[in-house]
Amino acid sequence: MAWDGLSDEQREIRELVRSLARERIAPRAAEIDKRGEFPWDMVELMREHELLALPYEEAYGGTGTGTLTVLVAIEEISKVCATTGLILAVQELGSLGIKLAGSEEQKERWLPRLACGEWLAAYALTEAGSGSDSAAMRTEARLVGDEYVLSGSKRFITNAGVANVYVVFAKTDPSAGHSGISAFVVPSDASGFEVGRLEPKMGIKGSTTGELFFNECRIPADNLLGEEGEGFKIAMRILDRSRPGVAAQGLGLAQGATDYALDYAKSRETMGKPIAEHQLIAGMLADMETKCEAARGVLYKVGAMIDEDAPPEEITKISAMAKLLCTDVAMEVTTDAVQILGGYGYIQEYPLERMMRDAKITQIYEGTNQIQRLVIAREMLKENRAFLLAGVG
Ligand SMILES: Cc1cc2nc3c(=O)[nH]c(=O)nc-3n(C[C@H](O)[C@H](O)[C@H](O)COP(=O)(O)OP(=O)(O)OC[C@H]3O[C@@H](n4cnc5c(N)ncnc54)[C@H](O)[C@@H]3O)c2cc1C
Repeated sequence: MAWDGLSDEQREIRELVRSLARERIAPRAAEIDKRGEFPWDMVELMREHELLALPYEEAYGGTGTGTLTVLVAIEEISKVCATTGLILAVQELGSLGIKLAGSEEQKERWLPRLACGEWLAAYALTEAGSGSDSAAMRTEARLVGDEYVLSGSKRFITNAGVANVYVVFAKTDPSAGHSGISAFVVPSDASGFEVGRLEPKMGIKGSTTGELFFNECRIPADNLLGEEGEGFKIAMRILDRSRPGVAAQGLGLAQGATDYALDYAKSRETMGKPIAEHQLIAGMLADMETKCEAARGVLYKVGAMIDEDAPPEEITKISAMAKLLCTDVAMEVTTDAVQILGGYGYIQEYPLERMMRDAKITQIYEGTNQIQRLVIAREMLKENRAFLLAGVG
Protein backbone atom coordinates (compact mmCIF):
# COMPACT_ATOMS: atom_id res chain seq x y z
CA MET A 1 0.00 0.00 0.00
CA ALA A 2 1.45 3.39 -0.99
CA TRP A 3 0.96 6.66 0.90
CA ASP A 4 -2.00 7.55 -1.30
CA GLY A 5 -3.87 4.54 0.13
CA LEU A 6 -4.20 2.85 -3.28
CA SER A 7 -3.48 -0.84 -3.84
CA ASP A 8 -1.17 -2.02 -6.64
CA GLU A 9 -4.24 -2.93 -8.72
CA GLN A 10 -5.75 0.52 -8.22
CA ARG A 11 -2.49 2.17 -9.23
CA GLU A 12 -2.35 0.04 -12.37
CA ILE A 13 -5.89 1.07 -13.30
CA ARG A 14 -4.96 4.69 -12.61
CA GLU A 15 -2.00 4.40 -15.01
CA LEU A 16 -4.22 2.90 -17.72
CA VAL A 17 -6.83 5.65 -17.34
CA ARG A 18 -4.15 8.35 -17.14
CA SER A 19 -2.61 7.29 -20.44
CA LEU A 20 -6.03 7.01 -22.14
CA ALA A 21 -6.85 10.47 -20.80
CA ARG A 22 -3.61 11.95 -22.11
CA GLU A 23 -3.58 10.20 -25.49
CA ARG A 24 -7.25 9.80 -26.46
CA ILE A 25 -9.45 12.07 -24.34
CA ALA A 26 -7.41 15.28 -23.96
CA PRO A 27 -7.15 15.83 -27.74
CA ARG A 28 -10.99 15.79 -27.98
CA ALA A 29 -11.83 17.98 -24.98
CA ALA A 30 -11.82 21.42 -26.65
CA GLU A 31 -13.92 20.21 -29.56
CA ILE A 32 -16.48 18.52 -27.28
CA ASP A 33 -16.85 21.85 -25.47
CA LYS A 34 -17.05 23.88 -28.67
CA ARG A 35 -19.57 21.67 -30.47
CA GLY A 36 -21.64 20.90 -27.38
CA GLU A 37 -22.49 17.46 -28.72
CA PHE A 38 -22.68 14.33 -26.63
CA PRO A 39 -19.34 12.53 -27.22
CA TRP A 40 -20.36 9.02 -28.28
CA ASP A 41 -16.76 8.32 -29.31
CA MET A 42 -15.74 8.78 -25.66
CA VAL A 43 -18.47 6.33 -24.60
CA GLU A 44 -17.09 3.87 -27.14
CA LEU A 45 -13.55 4.38 -25.81
CA MET A 46 -14.73 3.74 -22.25
CA ARG A 47 -16.64 0.65 -23.40
CA GLU A 48 -13.57 -0.74 -25.20
CA HIS A 49 -11.37 -0.31 -22.13
CA GLU A 50 -14.03 -1.54 -19.69
CA LEU A 51 -14.13 1.76 -17.83
CA LEU A 52 -17.93 1.69 -17.78
CA ALA A 53 -17.65 -1.69 -16.01
CA LEU A 54 -15.81 -0.13 -13.05
CA PRO A 55 -18.93 0.65 -10.95
CA TYR A 56 -20.28 -2.94 -11.03
CA GLU A 57 -19.66 -6.23 -9.28
CA GLU A 58 -18.23 -9.13 -11.24
CA ALA A 59 -21.50 -11.06 -10.88
CA TYR A 60 -23.17 -8.45 -13.15
CA GLY A 61 -20.35 -8.14 -15.67
CA GLY A 62 -18.39 -5.45 -13.82
CA THR A 63 -14.76 -5.34 -12.76
CA GLY A 64 -15.62 -5.67 -9.04
CA THR A 65 -12.87 -3.19 -8.21
CA GLY A 66 -14.93 -0.99 -5.85
CA THR A 67 -15.80 2.66 -5.34
CA LEU A 68 -12.34 4.10 -4.70
CA THR A 69 -11.21 2.84 -8.10
CA VAL A 70 -14.21 4.49 -9.79
CA LEU A 71 -13.31 7.78 -8.08
CA VAL A 72 -9.68 7.57 -9.19
CA ALA A 73 -10.84 6.94 -12.77
CA ILE A 74 -13.27 9.91 -12.72
CA GLU A 75 -10.49 12.12 -11.31
CA GLU A 76 -8.01 11.12 -14.01
CA ILE A 77 -10.49 11.62 -16.86
CA SER A 78 -11.73 14.95 -15.46
CA LYS A 79 -8.17 16.30 -15.36
CA VAL A 80 -8.46 16.61 -19.13
CA CYS A 81 -12.22 16.54 -19.88
CA ALA A 82 -14.91 17.02 -17.24
CA THR A 83 -17.69 16.14 -19.70
CA THR A 84 -16.17 12.70 -20.27
CA GLY A 85 -15.51 12.25 -16.54
CA LEU A 86 -19.19 12.96 -15.97
CA ILE A 87 -20.22 10.08 -18.25
CA LEU A 88 -18.60 7.62 -15.84
CA ALA A 89 -19.91 9.47 -12.76
CA VAL A 90 -23.50 9.41 -14.07
CA GLN A 91 -23.27 5.76 -15.08
CA GLU A 92 -22.65 5.15 -11.37
CA LEU A 93 -25.32 7.67 -10.23
CA GLY A 94 -27.97 6.21 -12.53
CA SER A 95 -27.18 2.62 -11.52
CA LEU A 96 -26.99 3.09 -7.77
CA GLY A 97 -30.77 2.83 -7.26
CA ILE A 98 -30.73 -0.61 -8.87
CA LYS A 99 -27.54 -1.63 -7.03
CA LEU A 100 -28.77 -0.48 -3.60
CA ALA A 101 -32.51 -1.19 -3.75
CA GLY A 102 -33.06 -3.57 -6.67
CA SER A 103 -34.06 -7.20 -6.24
CA GLU A 104 -31.78 -9.92 -7.58
CA GLU A 105 -34.03 -10.26 -10.63
CA GLN A 106 -33.92 -6.48 -11.27
CA LYS A 107 -30.13 -6.40 -10.96
CA GLU A 108 -29.82 -9.22 -13.48
CA ARG A 109 -32.28 -7.49 -15.80
CA TRP A 110 -30.45 -4.15 -15.99
CA LEU A 111 -26.91 -4.16 -14.60
CA PRO A 112 -25.08 -6.38 -17.12
CA ARG A 113 -26.12 -4.17 -20.06
CA LEU A 114 -25.02 -1.09 -18.12
CA ALA A 115 -21.73 -2.71 -17.10
CA CYS A 116 -20.77 -3.53 -20.68
CA GLY A 117 -21.64 0.02 -21.70
CA GLU A 118 -24.39 -1.01 -24.13
CA TRP A 119 -26.79 1.09 -22.06
CA LEU A 120 -26.35 4.42 -20.29
CA ALA A 121 -28.19 5.35 -17.10
CA ALA A 122 -29.69 8.54 -15.63
CA TYR A 123 -31.05 9.71 -12.27
CA ALA A 124 -34.20 11.83 -12.34
CA LEU A 125 -35.08 13.58 -9.08
CA THR A 126 -35.17 17.32 -9.87
CA GLU A 127 -38.27 19.10 -11.19
CA ALA A 128 -38.89 22.68 -12.26
CA GLY A 129 -40.34 23.51 -8.84
CA SER A 130 -38.23 21.18 -6.69
CA GLY A 131 -34.44 21.06 -6.61
CA SER A 132 -32.95 21.37 -3.13
CA ASP A 133 -36.43 20.69 -1.73
CA SER A 134 -36.84 17.41 -3.55
CA ALA A 135 -39.76 16.24 -1.39
CA ALA A 136 -41.83 19.01 -3.01
CA MET A 137 -41.86 17.04 -6.28
CA ARG A 138 -45.18 16.80 -8.16
CA THR A 139 -44.66 13.85 -10.48
CA GLU A 140 -47.08 11.10 -9.51
CA ALA A 141 -47.30 7.36 -10.11
CA ARG A 142 -50.42 5.23 -9.60
CA LEU A 143 -50.78 1.50 -9.78
CA VAL A 144 -53.26 0.41 -12.47
CA GLY A 145 -53.50 -3.37 -12.78
CA ASP A 146 -49.98 -4.67 -13.26
CA GLU A 147 -48.57 -1.32 -14.39
CA TYR A 148 -47.57 1.99 -12.82
CA VAL A 149 -48.78 5.05 -14.69
CA LEU A 150 -46.53 8.10 -14.25
CA SER A 151 -47.59 11.68 -14.91
CA GLY A 152 -45.50 14.82 -14.51
CA SER A 153 -42.08 16.03 -15.57
CA LYS A 154 -38.44 16.30 -14.51
CA ARG A 155 -35.94 19.01 -15.29
CA PHE A 156 -32.12 19.32 -15.55
CA ILE A 157 -31.57 15.59 -16.02
CA THR A 158 -28.06 14.61 -17.06
CA ASN A 159 -27.98 12.07 -19.93
CA ALA A 160 -31.51 13.06 -21.02
CA GLY A 161 -32.00 11.65 -24.50
CA VAL A 162 -28.90 9.43 -24.39
CA ALA A 163 -29.75 7.16 -21.44
CA ASN A 164 -31.58 3.87 -21.89
CA VAL A 165 -32.74 3.57 -18.27
CA TYR A 166 -33.85 6.37 -16.00
CA VAL A 167 -34.24 5.94 -12.24
CA VAL A 168 -37.23 8.20 -11.61
CA PHE A 169 -38.77 9.38 -8.33
CA ALA A 170 -42.51 10.01 -8.14
CA LYS A 171 -45.24 10.30 -5.52
CA THR A 172 -47.36 7.21 -5.02
CA ASP A 173 -49.06 8.89 -2.04
CA PRO A 174 -49.06 12.68 -2.58
CA SER A 175 -50.48 13.35 0.89
CA ALA A 176 -47.64 11.58 2.71
CA GLY A 177 -44.70 13.98 2.11
CA HIS A 178 -41.29 12.24 2.07
CA SER A 179 -42.83 8.88 2.80
CA GLY A 180 -45.15 9.08 -0.20
CA ILE A 181 -42.27 8.98 -2.71
CA SER A 182 -41.31 5.82 -4.63
CA ALA A 183 -38.47 4.96 -7.04
CA PHE A 184 -38.93 3.40 -10.48
CA VAL A 185 -36.87 2.31 -13.43
CA VAL A 186 -38.26 3.87 -16.61
CA PRO A 187 -36.82 2.51 -19.86
CA SER A 188 -36.39 5.06 -22.64
CA ASP A 189 -38.86 3.18 -24.86
CA ALA A 190 -41.72 3.22 -22.30
CA SER A 191 -44.99 4.45 -23.79
CA GLY A 192 -45.75 8.05 -22.77
CA PHE A 193 -42.11 8.86 -22.00
CA GLU A 194 -40.69 11.82 -23.85
CA VAL A 195 -37.48 13.86 -23.72
CA GLY A 196 -38.06 17.62 -23.94
CA ARG A 197 -35.66 20.45 -24.53
CA LEU A 198 -31.94 20.13 -23.86
CA GLU A 199 -30.46 23.11 -22.03
CA PRO A 200 -27.64 25.20 -23.53
CA LYS A 201 -25.31 25.91 -20.60
CA MET A 202 -22.12 27.46 -19.20
CA GLY A 203 -19.95 24.35 -19.01
CA ILE A 204 -19.82 20.55 -19.39
CA LYS A 205 -21.30 21.37 -22.75
CA GLY A 206 -21.01 17.88 -24.23
CA SER A 207 -23.19 16.44 -21.47
CA THR A 208 -26.92 16.55 -22.13
CA THR A 209 -29.12 18.25 -19.51
CA GLY A 210 -32.78 18.05 -20.30
CA GLU A 211 -36.45 17.79 -19.47
CA LEU A 212 -38.32 14.51 -19.20
CA PHE A 213 -42.09 14.23 -19.67
CA PHE A 214 -44.25 11.42 -18.34
CA ASN A 215 -47.55 11.62 -20.23
CA GLU A 216 -49.49 8.78 -18.62
CA CYS A 217 -46.25 6.86 -19.00
CA ARG A 218 -46.75 3.11 -18.43
CA ILE A 219 -44.15 0.82 -16.93
CA PRO A 220 -44.46 -2.73 -15.53
CA ALA A 221 -45.27 -2.82 -11.81
CA ASP A 222 -42.08 -4.77 -11.17
CA ASN A 223 -40.00 -1.74 -12.21
CA LEU A 224 -40.64 -0.38 -8.70
CA LEU A 225 -37.36 -0.31 -6.72
CA GLY A 226 -37.78 -1.41 -3.10
CA GLU A 227 -41.24 -0.84 -1.61
CA GLU A 228 -43.73 1.95 -2.25
CA GLY A 229 -42.85 4.90 -0.01
CA GLU A 230 -39.14 4.08 0.21
CA GLY A 231 -38.18 6.37 -2.69
CA PHE A 232 -36.94 9.35 -0.66
CA LYS A 233 -34.66 7.17 1.45
CA ILE A 234 -33.37 5.48 -1.70
CA ALA A 235 -32.72 8.88 -3.34
CA MET A 236 -30.69 10.04 -0.31
CA ARG A 237 -28.73 6.77 -0.05
CA ILE A 238 -27.88 7.13 -3.73
CA LEU A 239 -26.63 10.70 -3.20
CA ASP A 240 -24.45 9.59 -0.26
CA ARG A 241 -22.70 7.22 -2.67
CA SER A 242 -22.72 9.41 -5.77
CA ARG A 243 -21.56 12.75 -4.35
CA PRO A 244 -17.99 11.46 -4.15
CA GLY A 245 -18.19 11.04 -7.96
CA VAL A 246 -18.88 14.76 -8.35
CA ALA A 247 -16.10 15.42 -5.84
CA ALA A 248 -13.74 13.36 -8.02
CA GLN A 249 -14.80 15.35 -11.07
CA GLY A 250 -14.03 18.59 -9.17
CA LEU A 251 -10.69 17.32 -7.92
CA GLY A 252 -9.71 16.21 -11.43
CA LEU A 253 -10.49 19.69 -12.75
CA ALA A 254 -8.49 21.30 -9.92
CA GLN A 255 -5.43 19.07 -10.35
CA GLY A 256 -5.56 19.30 -14.14
CA ALA A 257 -5.65 23.10 -13.91
CA THR A 258 -2.80 23.15 -11.37
CA ASP A 259 -0.62 20.95 -13.58
CA TYR A 260 -1.33 23.10 -16.62
CA ALA A 261 -0.63 26.37 -14.79
CA LEU A 262 2.62 24.99 -13.34
CA ASP A 263 3.85 23.96 -16.76
CA TYR A 264 2.96 27.35 -18.21
CA ALA A 265 4.56 29.26 -15.32
CA LYS A 266 7.86 27.48 -15.86
CA SER A 267 8.16 28.70 -19.45
CA ARG A 268 6.41 32.10 -19.51
CA GLU A 269 8.94 34.83 -18.71
CA THR A 270 8.37 38.37 -17.45
CA MET A 271 10.90 40.80 -16.02
CA GLY A 272 13.75 38.50 -16.93
CA LYS A 273 12.62 35.25 -15.34
CA PRO A 274 9.95 32.55 -15.52
CA ILE A 275 6.76 33.72 -13.77
CA ALA A 276 7.00 30.59 -11.54
CA GLU A 277 9.98 32.30 -9.90
CA HIS A 278 7.99 35.40 -8.97
CA GLN A 279 7.00 34.76 -5.39
CA LEU A 280 3.37 35.82 -5.79
CA ILE A 281 2.88 33.22 -8.54
CA ALA A 282 4.90 30.56 -6.67
CA GLY A 283 2.68 31.14 -3.63
CA MET A 284 -0.47 30.67 -5.71
CA LEU A 285 0.87 27.43 -7.17
CA ALA A 286 1.75 26.16 -3.70
CA ASP A 287 -1.74 26.95 -2.41
CA MET A 288 -3.37 25.24 -5.41
CA GLU A 289 -1.32 22.07 -4.96
CA THR A 290 -1.97 22.01 -1.20
CA LYS A 291 -5.73 22.37 -1.68
CA CYS A 292 -5.75 19.51 -4.20
CA GLU A 293 -3.78 17.24 -1.90
CA ALA A 294 -6.06 17.96 1.07
CA ALA A 295 -9.17 17.40 -1.05
CA ARG A 296 -7.75 14.10 -2.34
CA GLY A 297 -7.21 12.92 1.23
CA VAL A 298 -10.90 13.32 2.06
CA LEU A 299 -12.06 11.92 -1.28
CA TYR A 300 -9.99 8.74 -1.06
CA LYS A 301 -11.05 8.31 2.54
CA VAL A 302 -14.74 8.25 1.59
CA GLY A 303 -14.00 5.82 -1.26
CA ALA A 304 -12.23 3.47 1.16
CA MET A 305 -15.04 3.84 3.72
CA ILE A 306 -17.68 2.85 1.15
CA ASP A 307 -15.57 -0.11 0.05
CA GLU A 308 -15.18 -1.20 3.67
CA ASP A 309 -18.92 -0.83 4.42
CA ALA A 310 -18.61 1.94 7.00
CA PRO A 311 -21.83 2.84 8.91
CA PRO A 312 -24.26 4.79 6.67
CA GLU A 313 -24.35 7.92 8.87
CA GLU A 314 -20.56 8.19 8.70
CA ILE A 315 -20.71 7.91 4.93
CA THR A 316 -23.41 10.61 4.74
CA LYS A 317 -21.16 13.11 6.53
CA ILE A 318 -17.82 12.40 4.86
CA SER A 319 -19.44 12.14 1.44
CA ALA A 320 -20.96 15.63 1.84
CA MET A 321 -17.57 16.89 3.10
CA ALA A 322 -15.75 15.43 0.09
CA LYS A 323 -18.28 17.00 -2.30
CA LEU A 324 -18.08 20.38 -0.56
CA LEU A 325 -14.30 20.49 -0.26
CA CYS A 326 -13.33 19.07 -3.66
CA THR A 327 -15.77 21.23 -5.60
CA ASP A 328 -15.02 24.47 -3.73
CA VAL A 329 -11.34 23.69 -4.40
CA ALA A 330 -12.21 23.11 -8.07
CA MET A 331 -13.73 26.58 -8.39
CA GLU A 332 -10.94 28.36 -6.46
CA VAL A 333 -8.08 26.56 -8.16
CA THR A 334 -9.38 26.81 -11.73
CA THR A 335 -9.97 30.55 -11.17
CA ASP A 336 -6.40 30.96 -9.89
CA ALA A 337 -5.05 28.94 -12.79
CA VAL A 338 -6.75 31.32 -15.25
CA GLN A 339 -5.10 34.20 -13.36
CA ILE A 340 -1.66 32.60 -13.65
CA LEU A 341 -2.01 32.45 -17.42
CA GLY A 342 -3.05 36.12 -17.54
CA GLY A 343 -4.80 36.96 -20.84
CA TYR A 344 -4.02 33.49 -22.14
CA GLY A 345 -6.11 32.03 -19.36
CA TYR A 346 -9.17 33.89 -20.62
CA ILE A 347 -9.09 32.88 -24.27
CA GLN A 348 -10.36 29.67 -25.79
CA GLU A 349 -7.04 28.69 -27.34
CA TYR A 350 -6.01 27.47 -23.87
CA PRO A 351 -8.01 24.96 -21.80
CA LEU A 352 -8.27 26.88 -18.54
CA GLU A 353 -11.32 29.03 -19.27
CA ARG A 354 -13.18 25.81 -20.14
CA MET A 355 -12.02 24.18 -16.92
CA MET A 356 -13.19 27.18 -14.90
CA ARG A 357 -16.63 27.08 -16.59
CA ASP A 358 -16.84 23.31 -16.06
CA ALA A 359 -15.88 23.63 -12.38
CA LYS A 360 -18.90 25.82 -11.53
CA ILE A 361 -21.51 23.08 -11.95
CA THR A 362 -19.73 20.82 -9.46
CA GLN A 363 -20.74 23.25 -6.70
CA ILE A 364 -24.38 23.02 -7.81
CA TYR A 365 -25.49 19.54 -8.83
CA GLU A 366 -26.16 16.53 -6.61
CA GLY A 367 -27.05 19.00 -3.88
CA THR A 368 -25.64 22.53 -3.88
CA ASN A 369 -22.75 23.24 -1.55
CA GLN A 370 -25.13 25.10 0.76
CA ILE A 371 -27.06 21.83 1.06
CA GLN A 372 -23.82 19.91 1.75
CA ARG A 373 -23.11 22.30 4.63
CA LEU A 374 -26.60 21.66 6.02
CA VAL A 375 -26.04 17.89 5.79
CA ILE A 376 -22.66 18.08 7.56
CA ALA A 377 -24.01 20.33 10.32
CA ARG A 378 -27.04 18.06 10.81
CA GLU A 379 -24.76 15.04 11.26
CA MET A 380 -22.55 17.01 13.68
CA LEU A 381 -25.58 17.90 15.78
CA LYS A 382 -26.56 14.24 16.00
CA GLU A 383 -23.14 13.18 17.30
CA ASN A 384 -22.72 12.78 21.02
CA ARG A 385 -19.26 14.27 21.29
CA ALA A 386 -17.29 14.62 24.50
CA PHE A 387 -16.47 18.29 25.06
CA LEU A 388 -12.90 18.50 26.28
CA LEU A 389 -13.38 21.82 28.02
CA ALA A 390 -16.49 20.73 29.96
CA GLY A 391 -16.31 22.08 33.47
CA VAL A 392 -13.61 24.65 32.66
CA GLY A 393 -14.76 27.95 34.14
C1 LIG B 1 -26.04 20.77 -15.58
C2 LIG B 1 -26.98 20.21 -14.55
C3 LIG B 1 -27.10 18.83 -14.42
C4 LIG B 1 -27.99 18.29 -13.48
N1 LIG B 1 -28.16 16.93 -13.42
C5 LIG B 1 -29.15 16.42 -12.64
C6 LIG B 1 -29.49 15.03 -12.70
O1 LIG B 1 -28.87 14.24 -13.43
N2 LIG B 1 -30.53 14.59 -11.94
C7 LIG B 1 -31.25 15.41 -11.12
O2 LIG B 1 -32.17 14.94 -10.48
N3 LIG B 1 -30.93 16.73 -11.03
C8 LIG B 1 -29.91 17.24 -11.77
N4 LIG B 1 -29.61 18.59 -11.74
C9 LIG B 1 -30.35 19.45 -10.81
C10 LIG B 1 -29.52 19.96 -9.64
O3 LIG B 1 -29.23 18.90 -8.75
C11 LIG B 1 -30.29 21.11 -8.99
O4 LIG B 1 -30.23 22.20 -9.90
C12 LIG B 1 -29.72 21.51 -7.64
O5 LIG B 1 -29.93 20.48 -6.69
C13 LIG B 1 -30.31 22.82 -7.11
O6 LIG B 1 -31.69 22.86 -7.23
P1 LIG B 1 -32.38 24.15 -7.90
O7 LIG B 1 -31.67 24.41 -9.17
O8 LIG B 1 -33.84 23.93 -7.94
O9 LIG B 1 -32.02 25.33 -6.92
P2 LIG B 1 -32.87 25.76 -5.60
O10 LIG B 1 -33.17 24.56 -4.79
O11 LIG B 1 -33.99 26.62 -6.03
O12 LIG B 1 -31.79 26.64 -4.84
C14 LIG B 1 -31.52 27.99 -5.20
C15 LIG B 1 -30.44 28.52 -4.23
O13 LIG B 1 -30.94 28.49 -2.88
C16 LIG B 1 -30.05 27.71 -2.08
N5 LIG B 1 -30.86 26.97 -1.09
C17 LIG B 1 -31.95 26.21 -1.34
N6 LIG B 1 -32.44 25.71 -0.18
C18 LIG B 1 -31.63 26.16 0.81
C19 LIG B 1 -31.58 25.97 2.22
N7 LIG B 1 -32.47 25.20 2.86
N8 LIG B 1 -30.60 26.60 2.92
C20 LIG B 1 -29.68 27.38 2.30
N9 LIG B 1 -29.66 27.57 0.95
C21 LIG B 1 -30.62 26.97 0.22
C22 LIG B 1 -29.33 26.77 -3.03
O14 LIG B 1 -28.08 26.34 -2.49
C23 LIG B 1 -29.16 27.67 -4.24
O15 LIG B 1 -28.05 28.51 -4.05
C24 LIG B 1 -28.72 19.15 -12.63
C25 LIG B 1 -28.56 20.54 -12.76
C26 LIG B 1 -27.73 21.06 -13.70
C27 LIG B 1 -27.64 22.56 -13.86
